[in-house]
Amino acid sequence: MTLLPALQSPAGPAASREAVRFGALSLTYGELAAASAALAARIADAGRVAVWAAPTPETVIAVVAALRAGVPAVPLNPRTGEGELAHILADSEPTAVLAGPDDELPPALEKLRRVTVDAGAGETDGEASEARPGVHGIGEAGPEDPALIVYTSGTTGPPKGAVLPRRAVAASLDALEDAWGWTGDDVLVHALPLFHVHGLILGVLGPLRRGGSVRHLGKFSPDGVARELRSGGTMLFGVPTMYHRLAEVLDGPASDAERDSLTRALSGARLLVSGSAALPVHDHERIAAATGRRVIERYGMTETLMNTGIRADGAPRPGTVGPPLAGVELRLAEDDGTVLDAPGAIGEIQVRGPNLFTGYLNRPDATAAAHTADGWFRTGDVGTVDADGYVTIVGRKATDLIKSGGYKIGAGEIENVLLAHPGVREVAVTGEEDPDLGERVVAWVVATDPDSPPSAEELADRVSAQLAPHKRPRTVRYLDALPRNDLGKIMKRSLRG
Ligand code: ATP
Ligand code: MG
Repeated sequence: MTLLPALQSPAGPAASREAVRFGALSLTYGELAAASAALAARIADAGRVAVWAAPTPETVIAVVAALRAGVPAVPLNPRTGEGELAHILADSEPTAVLAGPDDELPPALEKLRRVTVDAGAGETDGEASEARPGVHGIGEAGPEDPALIVYTSGTTGPPKGAVLPRRAVAASLDALEDAWGWTGDDVLVHALPLFHVHGLILGVLGPLRRGGSVRHLGKFSPDGVARELRSGGTMLFGVPTMYHRLAEVLDGPASDAERDSLTRALSGARLLVSGSAALPVHDHERIAAATGRRVIERYGMTETLMNTGIRADGAPRPGTVGPPLAGVELRLAEDDGTVLDAPGAIGEIQVRGPNLFTGYLNRPDATAAAHTADGWFRTGDVGTVDADGYVTIVGRKATDLIKSGGYKIGAGEIENVLLAHPGVREVAVTGEEDPDLGERVVAWVVATDPDSPPSAEELADRVSAQLAPHKRPRTVRYLDALPRNDLGKIMKRSLRG
């Protein structure tokens, strides 16, 4: 099954099109095809490979080579702690690790065969190695063969390895092509890590499947985004913390020059996309007010790749993640399996479609528990669907759905109200056990000015005035920062009273 047709045997102008650029290092389609084919020959006999997924061209070569060789790749987060890394290695059992010449690998990886990938080495034996037995052309593995094993972000528990077949990667990327009119002319501005679905599958394999280009910033900065969007970038993929920082430049103490440059850059982009966590409505509105552009949200998971998304030509609706993508079936259900279809009903989001994983590695128990008897995947996310099929995510069943005084309350809605308060920089709302209410609403607040934070009463009044009295936070706790993971997701399970 051809995942990356543009890398099959690029020739002529298609071979000299830029595929990826990281700072000064750039690879054309011809160079990436040759380097990945040469590397594929070196790893063809590996059962499974780990990829040290630093934000470098070597990571791209390594992943493409593994796809080419038909060898499943396990991308590793270079910042993973020792314990988590040991868990992932023991679970996924790679026989080799692919890393760049300058990558310093931790002791846990020293036992593995190290295969050094060098983007600067200019390997050109692509055609010769493709002819070797055991090395696939880039399209020859079957649709159900695992392309990647990607570990979940570990927001709700230890990360689980999701086995992603080629079929799922192709289906999800093609559904995004349909939703966003994504073409080979698009140039993606990228600043996400390369070890999760968002940065690797959408951000790298997405452009490569279309024959377009990726420009990776290495490290996110509003200046870098402005520079790349103003010099040919057409799309930006980001997580909410990045859009928050952009909103702060547009609507904060930045210099006029910085603000103008970013305003012009964002106004000129074809598509600004946010995902991985909920984009606060306040940041969405600030960006829209300054640039006239609406950031569009899509909703996905490691296990399902992309489920829903606002279409490029669709109605923007802040706070929603859009309708199901092409090929995806989505429903809401109660814990007991009752399917909910009354308008406004709140239930667990369940999905079915060609975008789904085949299961968790070594975890038949967890795989079975994550599916209903009739074959739907339980996302663990809770949401609503409006009459036009637009999905709004209320939050995660485990941490964001507060059951208080007989009501089901979504944390996100309260967070959005509090974030619009100028004295609030960051907020997370959780439920805590309460003898009267079952659970009570608790707001964890990072103040804009820690020396004069808004009072608990002022914040609580704002919520009861704008939403409903039962959504009023009963407790407000002040913090210097919220615990977040590498994707900027708030780790609510480490917030305890
Ligand atoms: P773990 O499964 O290990 O606890 P995780 O669920 O954070 O970690 P991912 O697969 O990276 O790991 O994240 C998927 C989750 O991210 C979704 O289930 C959902 O809760 C959240 N998410 C993704 N996109 C959005 C979005 N646009 N709005 C709100 N939440 C989102
Ligand atoms: Mg999850």
